[in-house]
Amino acid sequence: MLFKWIAELLTRRGGYEVQVSSGTTATTREDFRAMVKTMMDYKSALDLLDWDAQTQMPEQGVQARSDAMGMLAAARFRLSVSAQMQEYLGELAASATLDPVTRRMVAIGQREYDRNCKVPEARFQAYVTLTTQAQSVWAKAREEDDFASFAPWLLRVIQMKREFAEYWGYDEHPYDAMLDEYEPGLTVAELDATFALVRDQTVQLLDRIRKGRKPEAEFLQRYFDPARQRDFSRWMLGQLGYDWRSGRLDETAHPFCTTIGHGDVRITTRYLPHFFNSALFGAIHECGHALYEQNISGELFGTNLFEGTSMGIHESQSRFWENIVGRSESFWEHYYPALQSHFPDQLAGVTWRDFYAAVNVVEPSLIRVEADEVTYNLHIMVRYELEKGLAGGDLRVADLPAIWREKMQAYLGIAPGNDRDGVLQDVHWSSGLFGYFPSYALGNLNSAQMAHAMRRALPDLSALIGRGEFAPVRAWLTDQVYQHGKLKTAAQIMMDATGEPTNATYLLKYFAEKYSPLYAL
Ligand code: ZN
Repeated sequence: MLFKWIAELLTRRGGYEVQVSSGTTATTREDFRAMVKTMMDYKSALDLLDWDAQTQMPEQGVQARSDAMGMLAAARFRLSVSAQMQEYLGELAASATLDPVTRRMVAIGQREYDRNCKVPEARFQAYVTLTTQAQSVWAKAREEDDFASFAPWLLRVIQMKREFAEYWGYDEHPYDAMLDEYEPGLTVAELDATFALVRDQTVQLLDRIRKGRKPEAEFLQRYFDPARQRDFSRWMLGQLGYDWRSGRLDETAHPFCTTIGHGDVRITTRYLPHFFNSALFGAIHECGHALYEQNISGELFGTNLFEGTSMGIHESQSRFWENIVGRSESFWEHYYPALQSHFPDQLAGVTWRDFYAAVNVVEPSLIRVEADEVTYNLHIMVRYELEKGLAGGDLRVADLPAIWREKMQAYLGIAPGNDRDGVLQDVHWSSGLFGYFPSYALGNLNSAQMAHAMRRALPDLSALIGRGEFAPVRAWLTDQVYQHGKLKTAAQIMMDATGEPTNATYLLKYFAEKYSPLYAL
C-alpha cells in the first residue's frame, strides 16, 4: 500500500524511481531496521508504563516504576548512540540506492544520534539532575507564590540550555537550536514575522470583541453528571471516527493521547461536574491527536517514522477537531438535540444557537490552559518573546515577573496580581522545555490553513459536518497528513496539503468570519 503511494508520490513530483538496494547495503539495511525496531519496542514498553503510571498505578508504586522506566530508557538511549548505529547510519547515508522509507529512517536516526552525542554525557547527566530538582522547586514556588526561590534554578536551567544550543549548533539565534527539538528546521527569523502578525491582529480583534455583544454562558456551569458526560463523550468519539478496537478512553487530571503501538492509541480526559466544556472538548482534542496516530500507514510500524511528524502538525489535528469541527455552528446544529436529550434539565430552554455561542465565548484570562481559541495564541506570544530573550541572553531572569505583567497587559488587557497566575503557571521551563510553546500556536495556524485547503476538495465541508459525515474529512486528512507519519517533514506536509508554508492568513480569516457574527462586530 505505502510503497505504491511512495512510487506515485515520486512520479507526481517527476522524481526518482523506487530502487531496491543490493549487496552489503541490503544486509546493513535489514540490520539497521532491526535495531530501530528494537528501539521502538523499548519505546512502546515505556509508553505503556507511563500510561499506566498516569491512569492506574497505586501511589506507592512510583519508585519501582521509575526504576523500570529508567532502565528501559537507558537501554534505548544506548542503542541510539551506539558505535553500531553510527556505522549503519554512515554506510546507509552513503548508499545511492536506498529506498525512500529507509532513507528517511536514516535521516531521523542521524538527527537523534547527533542531538544525543553532541552533548557530553556528564553535562547531560547534570541537566537531568538539575531539571528534576528544578521541577520540585518550581512546584513549591508556585504553591507559595514565591518567584525569588525559583529564580536561581531557572537561571541555571536556561544557562544549561544555552550551553546545549552551542553543542547542537545553529545559524543565527541560539533559540533556533531549541526550537529545532520540536519543529525541525524552524527558526526565530520565520517565527518573528508570522507571530507579529498573529499578535497584532488578534489584539485588534480582541479589542473589538470586548466592545461586542457577549453571549450568555452561565448554564455551562450547572451540574453535569460525570457518568452522563462520559457516556456522551464516548458516543461522540465514535461519531468522529475514533477506532474503539484500537483505543480506549480513561480519566486523568491532565488529558493526553499516547500511542502504545500499531492498533493501540489511547486517550484520556477529565470530568468536571460544574463545567461542561472540559470533558467533551478535551476528549475531542485528544481524539484529534489519536485520529492522526490511528491512521498512520501500518507499513511504517516498527520504524522510527511511525509517529506524528512534528508538534505543530500534531497540534493542528487536535485543534482542527476540537475547534474548527467541534466548536462550529453546523456541528452543534446537528448534535445539539442529542446533547440536550442527555441533559434535559441542565439545557432546558437553551437553544442550539445559545449553546454554540456559549462554547465560543472569548474572554481574556490569566491561565493559558483555560484560554479560548482567540486569546490562546496571545498567551503563547508572551512566552515566545520571553523565551527568545532568555535564550539570546537579552533578558534577565529577575525581570521576568514584571515583563510578564507588561506583556499580558499589552496583549490581553489583564495582568496577574501574583506570580502563581503569571510567570510561575507552567511546568515547562523548570523541565527545560524551551522552544516547546510556539508549537501550540503553529498548530492553530496549521489547522486553519488545512481547513481552507480541505474546502477546495470538499466545498461542502460545513454541510458534511452538519450531517455528522466525517468519513470524507478523515479521508482527506489521511491522504494529506495521517498516513505519512514522519515520512514527510512538517514543511513538506504543509506545502503538499495546502500549497504554501505555514502562515497566519487563514487563522486570522477564520477568526474574523466566525467571531464577527457571534459578537455582532
Ligand atoms: Zn494537544
